[in-house]
Amino acid sequence: MASIYFDHNATTALDNRVLDAMLPWMTNQAGNPTSRHIYGRSARDAIEHARAQVAEACGAYTSQVVFTSCGTEANNFAVKGIAAIKPAATAQQILTSAIEHPCVTRPAIAMQQYGYANQNIAVDVNGKIDLEKLKLQLNTPTGLVSVMLANNETGVIQALGAVAEMARGAGSFVHTDAVQALGKIELNFADLNVNAMSISSHKIHGPQGAAALILDKKLDIQPLLHGGGQEKGLRSGTENVAAIVGFGAACELAIRNKAIFATHTAALRDQLEQGLRELNVSIFGNKAARIPNTSFFAIDGIEGETLVMALDRKGYAVASGSACSSDSTEPSHVLLAMGVPADLARGAVRVSFGAHNTTEQVTDFLATLNNEILRLKQMTAIAA
Ligand code: PLP
Repeated sequence: MASIYFDHNATTALDNRVLDAMLPWMTNQAGNPTSRHIYGRSARDAIEHARAQVAEACGAYTSQVVFTSCGTEANNFAVKGIAAIKPAATAQQILTSAIEHPCVTRPAIAMQQYGYANQNIAVDVNGKIDLEKLKLQLNTPTGLVSVMLANNETGVIQALGAVAEMARGAGSFVHTDAVQALGKIELNFADLNVNAMSISSHKIHGPQGAAALILDKKLDIQPLLHGGGQEKGLRSGTENVAAIVGFGAACELAIRNKAIFATHTAALRDQLEQGLRELNVSIFGNKAARIPNTSFFAIDGIEGETLVMALDRKGYAVASGSACSSDSTEPSHVLLAMGVPADLARGAVRVSFGAHNTTEQVTDFLATLNNEILRLKQMTAIAA
């Protein structure tokens, strides 16, 4: 059965124009970018073209773009590579927000073995960083503050300028995970005033297997991978030319379509949330500025996982909590950090729209959701 895809924060389908750009680099033009011959030189040129496209999409210089294999690698590189600059003897802690993706929190926890403490930065009920608490936390010498620009579950956008000013003023480096922001809101590395920023290709109709860490040129970050010295020694390993070319093409399309994407998906989200309010559903993060395509909500008394499976059977692909940890039935850590009771958080479902979703799909989805809620509630009542 064909399914309606409402899970664009998890991943997006490859755009045909991106595929066209990639195909030569997977077939007759394949060459190692470090080779001196024509195949190698062409592959190198293709990577540099993609670097310019990626830099343009996020307000960076080409020299600031380091390609990685995924957003997870970019985040690990940022956290571990920056922590390695400042010995733990002088910087005692790494601060990560309580709502980060695990690929930021887990490397921060891993750095405890080198003497760092890892502390969470609290968020308020709207999912925004508590700046007062952050200010107090920064009284302890801090090596790195990592706060995501847009949350993958709620879509809430942080006031990163204020976070960066406070953290840099206290002598800390600052990283932001902008994986969910790219292509959805204005993204300008220079304006954010951070030292490092992660972005990923497969969230914007590019291929899986390419991402980037955007780096302040003055940052003496330590590489995760040592070897042949690719990416100016910052990320050794033969480049995934086709994926990088696809990432570049996807970035170019994303900036061209950003305004239309924002208007279209925000209208779908507003339509959805209007309908959700009539169903008496709790919506999370909707009092704060959000990326336009995301809605996160819960129905009291119904498990998110159960609802996701029921909707899947009816032909709708949505997510419960964080897609990347959907094998777990733990309540969303993002909602717990926002003070949502665990029982309600366990019911959370995320809808994330893309450019190809339509008003009719949302109307039909709301009718199906209503039926499934009634059916599941009846089942629970019978079982009780
Ligand atoms: N950061 C955020 C906010 C994400 O949503 C994701 C993926 O869902 C990642 C990082 C990881 O990116 P990747 O899937 O490219 O490893």
